[in-house]
Amino acid sequence: MHFLLSCTHVVLLIEDKYQSLTVTKTPHNTPITGEIVLLGTGTSVGVPSIGCGCDVCTSGHPKNQRTRCSVVFGLPAGNLLIDTPPDLRTQLLRENIGIVHSVLFTHEHADHIYGLDDLRLFQFYLGHAVSLYCEEKVEDRIRRSFDYAFPTVEPTHRGAIPKLEFQRISTEPFEVLDTPVIPIRLNHGPRFRVLGFRIGNIAYCTDTNEIPEESWPLLEGLDVLILDALRRKPHVTHFGLDDGVAAAEKVGAGQTIFTHISHDLDHEGTNAQLPDSMELGYDGMRIPLT
Ligand SMILES: [Zn+2]
Ligand SMILES: [Zn+2]
Ligand SMILES: [Zn+2]
Repeated sequence: MHFLLSCTHVVLLIEDKYQSLTVTKTPHNTPITGEIVLLGTGTSVGVPSIGCGCDVCTSGHPKNQRTRCSVVFGLPAGNLLIDTPPDLRTQLLRENIGIVHSVLFTHEHADHIYGLDDLRLFQFYLGHAVSLYCEEKVEDRIRRSFDYAFPTVEPTHRGAIPKLEFQRISTEPFEVLDTPVIPIRLNHGPRFRVLGFRIGNIAYCTDTNEIPEESWPLLEGLDVLILDALRRKPHVTHFGLDDGVAAAEKVGAGQTIFTHISHDLDHEGTNAQLPDSMELGYDGMRIPLT
């Protein structure tokens, strides 16, 4: 049976009760073309942290409310998301970003992938799968953690699972949404390697405590560096603030914005102590694309 149902934003062509649908929906969306939005700037447990009564967690200051780390680039050809944290749904709703066209992954830790299911609606807006650009170890983790999204039998209905398509990346430059991306190898503690990404003159380098020698040249001439700074003291897998400031000074970007921040750093108090070209990021912060 074929019938056509339409309203302002929805056109459904339903072929029969159980078969796949050809569906087109227009997302309710505020365009972000020409800027990037820091969706989340918090460490893996978020700020406030559950059960914590410290001054930062209880401050109520909006810039001390930090969801898990992610950022979206408003490229001319679409919205490029980096990582799918557990807070992804609330982040996209908060910023009224109604569509994501492609996703890059820095690494496979829980705070960077466990919002993956929130990509489920985009198949209706895109009319195809969402491309996930990641290294092999990230794909392996996603396939194991989200095994239901890669079934061997057809799902009962479209939208039951996210529609995803992997694109393998390495440290070689590649293009996504017609835009060149330069991957930047970063160390995340003694045993874990992640990728940062440079797009134009902006680099996103979260979850790192060390920039390997071969990666420094990739950070030359930046307008904006977004860099990990977990807390004041050093940490085995993240830059502490002093180490982050030292790395940022060596990079020499026009502006450095710290992210992956714990409850150790109060937004206003920390910013007052940072060099002029450096500041803590905050959820919802917008930066022009250069
Ligand atoms: Zn993390
Ligand atoms: Zn706290
Ligand atoms: Zn991590």
